[in-house]
Amino acid sequence: MAGASIAGPALAHWLHRRGAEVTVVERAPGLRPGGQAVDARGVTKEVIRRMGLDEAVRAACTDTAGAHTVDADGNVLQTFSAEDDGGDGFIADIEILRGDLAQVLYDDTRAGVEYVFDDRIAELTQDADGVDVTFASGAKRRFDLVIGADGLHSALRAMVFGPRERFVRHLGLVLAFYSVPNEFGLDRWFIEYQEQGSGRSAALRPIQDATRGMAFFSFPAAEFDVDHRDIEGQKRLLREQVADLGWLTPRILAHLDDAPDFYLDQVAQVVMDRWSDGRVGLIGDAAFCASPMSGQGTGLALVGAYLLAGELAAAKWDPVAGFAGYEERMRSFVEANQEMGRLHVEFRSATGPAAEPDVEALMPLIERALNGIELPDYAGVPDSRA
Ligand SMILES: Cc1cc2nc3c(=O)[nH]c(=O)nc-3n(C[C@H](O)[C@H](O)[C@H](O)COP(=O)(O)OP(=O)(O)OC[C@H]3O[C@@H](n4cnc5c(N)ncnc54)[C@H](O)[C@@H]3O)c2cc1C
Repeated sequence: MAGASIAGPALAHWLHRRGAEVTVVERAPGLRPGGQAVDARGVTKEVIRRMGLDEAVRAACTDTAGAHTVDADGNVLQTFSAEDDGGDGFIADIEILRGDLAQVLYDDTRAGVEYVFDDRIAELTQDADGVDVTFASGAKRRFDLVIGADGLHSALRAMVFGPRERFVRHLGLVLAFYSVPNEFGLDRWFIEYQEQGSGRSAALRPIQDATRGMAFFSFPAAEFDVDHRDIEGQKRLLREQVADLGWLTPRILAHLDDAPDFYLDQVAQVVMDRWSDGRVGLIGDAAFCASPMSGQGTGLALVGAYLLAGELAAAKWDPVAGFAGYEERMRSFVEANQEMGRLHVEFRSATGPAAEPDVEALMPLIERALNGIELPDYAGVPDSRA
């Protein structure tokens, strides 16, 4: 499997439990820190419970009480509590920094799964019985199945399914995150300033380390390609785009050069009509990124991991039947979440009444995005932790 962030280690957990031997190769030299908080809502919470990780995830949560939106002078406009909507609201009761969740998943799997850092799949060829893989380090190995959990810019997807332009749809926004010293008096509240109708916003949130906070910016950008390895170029771009945004922006930008964990990416979705080809499959953002604006990228990765391992094991590791079962179960759930992501971007970029979502009318879609998928219990399928 390629990618050790959320989808990769989560799938490794389930494949290992179902009896497979798993190798995860990650391009970075170690687990990558950083990222905003990600939320677990609806059915995702049940998957975390079935993984036996409820306690570990809750222990690593941000403990955010809720969110305030503010005007440029810091006056509160709206308040959302973490208790809204039974804990499944804008700020969910399970909210954890992406890097902390990756760490929980890695710690849970490292004893039973082989992790190879600082390497990547350079080439692969498949035949009826397996996949021959050549790693960038030169190592050559053969596997029964290869899964790409290597994110929005998946190299494995490009290698097997075609160029990225065919599958990646930009939604016209860019997001950036990095941690800053907590000189802003952040306690348990997320604070966001949105400039009306421009799609530009700035926000600050508390994290577990009370001496620091996480800063967040968004700005519109129609079609542009960020080189996702050119961190200095990304920082320059952010500064150009938000320097005049107002609110606390100048003070937040003052910490940009020293940011230890800077992350910037386009808000984009991945739309594919199939997530497998023979013995190669895709999961998480590589297959069906719904964008951070859906608030559900992590949920899709965790739910997808449960189903993919369950379906493959239930099909006795027959890739055709296993991948088909996974795609059939996941697809409408993915589509509902991708629609949520697109609508969220539209509301942010609109002005006047169009910027105010009609929550009542959206309820059926929200419900499908949170809970619109069945989790089989896979009784009779091997489970080493049963
Ligand atoms: C550093 C970072 C910060 C993020 N911050 C946020 C955030 O703030 N908010 C948000 O909503 N989402 C964020 N995301 C995306 C979020 O993690 C995903 O939407 C979601 O959790 C699904 O995860 P994933 O495992 O499918 O993909 P990702 O989390 O993108 O992970 C992909 C992994 O694959 C690795 N990789 C890439 N190419 C290769 C390769 N060729 N070979 C091997 N490994 C490879 C990457 O280094 C990464 O570890 C972030 C991702 C990363 C990597």
